[in-house]
Formats: sequence, structure tokens, C-alpha cells
Amino acid sequence: MIGGNTQGGSIHEFYLPKNTPRLPTVTHGEGIYLYTSDGRKLLDGSSGPIAINVGYGNNRIISALHDQAAKTPFASYRSFETSANVELSDKLCSLCGPGYDRAFFVSGGSEAIECCIKLLRNWAVAKGEPKRWKIISRMPSYHGSTLGALSITGDPVAHEMYGPMMASQPKVPTPFTYRIPSPFTTPAEYSAECLRQLEATIVSEGPETILGFIMEPVGGLATGALVAPDAYCKGVRELCYKYKIILVFDEVMTGAGRTGKFLAAHWWPDAKPDVVVMAKGLSSGYIPLGAVVAPNWIVQTITDKMGGFNHGHTYTSTPLQCAVASACLDVLIDDGLMENCCRMGDELLSTLLAVQSRTKTVGDVRGKGLLMAVEIVKDSDTKEMWDMGVRAAYRIATKAEARGVVLYVRVTANGAFGQWIMVAPPLIVTKSEIEFIGNVIEESVKEFELEMGL
Ligand code: PMP
Repeated sequence: MIGGNTQGGSIHEFYLPKNTPRLPTVTHGEGIYLYTSDGRKLLDGSSGPIAINVGYGNNRIISALHDQAAKTPFASYRSFETSANVELSDKLCSLCGPGYDRAFFVSGGSEAIECCIKLLRNWAVAKGEPKRWKIISRMPSYHGSTLGALSITGDPVAHEMYGPMMASQPKVPTPFTYRIPSPFTTPAEYSAECLRQLEATIVSEGPETILGFIMEPVGGLATGALVAPDAYCKGVRELCYKYKIILVFDEVMTGAGRTGKFLAAHWWPDAKPDVVVMAKGLSSGYIPLGAVVAPNWIVQTITDKMGGFNHGHTYTSTPLQCAVASACLDVLIDDGLMENCCRMGDELLSTLLAVQSRTKTVGDVRGKGLLMAVEIVKDSDTKEMWDMGVRAAYRIATKAEARGVVLYVRVTANGAFGQWIMVAPPLIVTKSEIEFIGNVIEESVKEFELEMGL
């Protein structure tokens, strides 16, 4: 018999700080609920890490997984074409729309970002411009945890730890709309300033050294579902055209319908990115998957001049990954989940705004579709932040879990940019479930406020 070392694989022992209460053991998932071995039914209020777009236990996806595993789970992309890969590429590119012609599949978001970085570099070298290697990104931002992805992630704490091991990449400010640095007073003023700094950075770094600019159109963990202002998106697109650099949208979290359109980019037709990076909801947790979707003019330059894209992993475009993601896309479209996301996103927004109006520590509610966040502050009039030691957002989320809703909390870089609770249930959520989530958040926030004497 193999086994017997009961602690070896425990997530609790390996990742979490000492004295963290033991994590519940999940037995199964169904729809938007997870069930635990101690008999609890928990509503997954953040879709895990905002990944489970279509919900758990979907029979159509499970059958696709079984069928493809039985046919063949694997056929190396270096030796074989597979119909699962071709089918997924076709579906994905057509859902992304005109100008997105090629898709490259890997095992997750960070890997897809790595792949995108190398794709851009290959393109520059293929064009005979080897001086281009920089990617401008934003502070704060999140683009993944591998070293290349981390080099473009705007997170001072991660950079303190890993900075010496990575190339330093230029950062420009993210246009926050809630806590606006003085002397600016409105989101419009501050996002114009962010554009000004982007242009100044392009010029000072030298446009001929830059590959591209990357941003999350609706932020995830790093900014708490910050929605990029319209004029900012348009301005970014114009600057990228002006200086001939590639615009990349990191849609790892926002893609596959999460904001109510297939890509968040589809909300800003006049800011169309050249390349999009996806993961998470694309396979909804049924299998690890990430994708880079690129136009022919980039891929063709590389294939013509370099004899192909020199990058890949063992688990690149495997038939099992592709068949499962293909079934996820079918479910997304056939079950009308993006339409439901728009309707339920409106419900969620008004529910959370009502919670904000009846509490003191919900400073801001923001997001798009079913990608929302509530920012937790000490005083919503002054926007003063809680001391880190209070662990405000964590305590509220713990109280919510005790009431049956699991929520993903993010405290940014030692609290530097704020702390929030992501509210992003699977896209199959119903109106009564949204009401339940709202009630649980309100009760949990009020219980916390009582504890703090507010
Ligand atoms: N980019 C964004 C915007 C993300 O939200 C994430 C994951 N939270 C990643 C990249 C990295 O994805 P993964 O965790 O699958 O490596």
C-alpha cells in the first residue's frame, strides 16, 4: 500500500501560517455549492479564485472529460494535430471576434502570461528589432506568480522578495477611481494623469525598446475589481498605436463571460487589444488551462521569419484540456450564461450598494458583471484604512463562511492599496442566491462593526 504519511500533501501544513484554523475538507461540488466532510453546504461566493464560471458538477463537461480521456488524454503538440485543439481554437477565436486568429494553450494563467511575453519578444526579433524587450505594466496589478509574470506584476512585496531574480520592468500607476491621490480629485482627472505618465514612460524608456503594454481591463485581486475608465482605455489604445507597441489585455480573470461579455475588452470597442490572455473561467476548474489569443500579423511574422514560435510545455494544447474547455464554452453559450451574468451582475451591484448604504465599513462597491468587490475601510467618510493587525476583511469573510458563503479576500501589499472582498459567484447564480449573499455580507459586516464598537 502506498501512503501513510498523513501530513505530506496537506495544503494546511505547507502553505498557511501557523495557528490558521484547519481548513474544511471538500467532499463534492454541485452548481454553486461546495459540500464539506463536516456536513456543511457552502455557497462559493467568489467562484474559488474567480475561476468556476459555469459551476460545479456540470454533466455535459464531465462527459466531455470522460470521452476525451477514453479516446486519448494526450498527444504531444510537437508530433500531432488533434481535432480537440483545432475545435477549441476555432471556437475561442470566433468568440473573441475579428482580429483574433490564433490560440495557444498552456496550463494556467501565469504560464499563459509567460507565453505572451515570449510571443511578443519573438515578434520583435522576427521583425529585426531585437532591442525591444520591455513590457510596461501597472502598479498595482496582478499577472501571475512565475518569475516572468511576476516581473510585470505590480506588487511591491513580491518584488522585495524576488526582485533580484527578475528583469525590472517599467511600471505606471493604475487609475484608481475610489482613493485618488492628491492633487487630483476626480477619476477623470486621475486617469488622464495616468495616461500622461504612461506616455512619459514610453518616451523616457524609448519606444524602440518596448514590446507592449499590459493591463487588466477590470482588475482582479490587485485592485479589487477596478473598472478601467472609458477614456483611459481609449487613451491607452491611442498611445499604443502612436508608439507602435502591442496592447495586451490580461483577461485571465475577466475572460470567458465573467463580466457579461465574452471578453471584458468587448465593453470597449474603441480600445481593442492586440493580444488577450485567458485562463480561469475558460475551463472553469474542470482542468488546468490558459490561452494566448493573437492576431495573424503577429503569429505569421514569427512563423515566416523564425520558423515557428520557440516555446512550449509538455502540457501544451493537450486534447484533454481542449475538449474540456470546448465543452465549457458550449455550456457558456448554450445555457445563456453571459446573459444571466449581465442580469445577475445588475442584481449584485444594487444588492451590494444597499449593503453599503446600511453599513459603515463598506467604503466602495465596484466591478462589472459578476466580478465585483467591496472595499473594507475603517471610516467610509474619510476612506481611512484599517490597521493591518485588525484583519478586517478576513474577519468579515470568516463570519460570512460561518453563515454559509465562502468569499475571497485580498489585502494588498501590506495594505498599501487597500483591502477588499471579491464577490464573484459562478455565472449560473440566481436572484434569490444573490439576495442570500447580500444578507450574509451585511450581517457579517454589522457583526464586525459591533465588535469594533462602531
Ligand atoms: N492574471 C490575472 C489577472 C489573474 O487574476 C491571475 C490569477 N489570479 C493570473 C494572471 C495568474 O493565473 P494563474 O493563477 O492561473 O497562474
